[in-house]
Amino acid sequence: MLDITKIRADFPILNREVHGKPLVYFDNGATSQTPQVVIDTIVDYYTTYNANIHRGVHTLSQEATDKYEEARLKVQKHFNAKKAYEIILTAGTTHSINIVASGFAALLKEGDEVIVSALEHHSNIVPWQMLCEKTGAVLKVIPMDEQGALRMDVFHELLNPKTKLVFCNHVSNALGTINPIEELIHAAHKFGAYVLIDGAQACPHIKPDVQALDVDFYVASAHKMCGPTGVGMLYGKEELLNMLPPYQGGGEMIETVTFEKTTYAGLPHKFEAGTPNICGGIAFGAAIDYMNEVGFEGIAAQETALLDYGTKALEEIDGLTIYGTSHKTSVISFNIEGIHPYDIGAILDKLGVAVRTGHHCAQPIMDFFGIPGTVRASFSFYNTTEEIDVLVAAVKKAKMMLS
Ligand code: PMP
Repeated sequence: MLDITKIRADFPILNREVHGKPLVYFDNGATSQTPQVVIDTIVDYYTTYNANIHRGVHTLSQEATDKYEEARLKVQKHFNAKKAYEIILTAGTTHSINIVASGFAALLKEGDEVIVSALEHHSNIVPWQMLCEKTGAVLKVIPMDEQGALRMDVFHELLNPKTKLVFCNHVSNALGTINPIEELIHAAHKFGAYVLIDGAQACPHIKPDVQALDVDFYVASAHKMCGPTGVGMLYGKEELLNMLPPYQGGGEMIETVTFEKTTYAGLPHKFEAGTPNICGGIAFGAAIDYMNEVGFEGIAAQETALLDYGTKALEEIDGLTIYGTSHKTSVISFNIEGIHPYDIGAILDKLGVAVRTGHHCAQPIMDFFGIPGTVRASFSFYNTTEEIDVLVAAVKKAKMMLS
């Protein structure tokens, strides 16, 4: 088990108060908190070697370039990519998905089919809808069941030789469902379809191995993994990244430019036009180091304990329904009969408890359950059962005040 007291001391923000109450931070699904070592990395960058990368002969530029490329190697190692240049450093999951979606716009044709899951975040739906509008490809949806699990029986029926792409999240942000991506990837490959897995919600809890998964594209955001906002990653198999056209034109992504013709740089620079989030990339590397030091086994054990404890305690509240009861990460999405989730969230905030309320950028899931939204408490390894006690007492109080 993890030494939670020691771990909590790594996160200065956990000491603050909100409305005069100790902060209980249960909005980790939206963004995780940042340990001091990552904050120090950011301060160190701007204090000692802030410079633009790749083009400079001067010392600061070389130091920044070395650290940035070191971060890419950390990401490569963490996700077990075969080559460092298969890791594109991006602005985050949304950016990564759009790179792939816009690239396939040049490769799909009318009548091709793409499959997306019913459990997706809007950022893994809308870019593919835009792709279908541009190409005339048809979007098909893997439905979900009442537990919040994907109907894999229907997925297998949807697959056919016209299927070109399949998109699915590894873990659902709204419900926490862990999807059977191994089965999905294997089945899609039998039909020659490529698979993109949105790992935004999985990576805070699970260490994915892109080679073992044999996944074609895998994407994630640093800010859900103890890192800063505005930076993330796209893993793609070398031959597929080479096949896709660049996403944006500009500096860094070219080999030669004349007014007659431009030739593009090789991987990863082809997809990294312009000055990147240099400090963010370096801090992403530091966040990955931190999470690995804590260790994913310990993270999983702590978060499972929190999920079990929280589920039991919340289930005892009369009129409370939990959405998403299949195999899942430490997310509890719930409503109380007759009360709008927003009103519960507002009262919890006054009591120092930060949760997310609303549709969680996953409106199709809310439509499935026929609800406007939920209250979502998402736990991280630095949370405690004592904090869950505070949540439960606060929910009871909110219920009493709002009923
Ligand atoms: N996919 C999922 C499953 C998410 O939870 C999120 C963030 N809520 C995103 C994509 C988008 O991530 P970002 O905003 O960092 O681009």
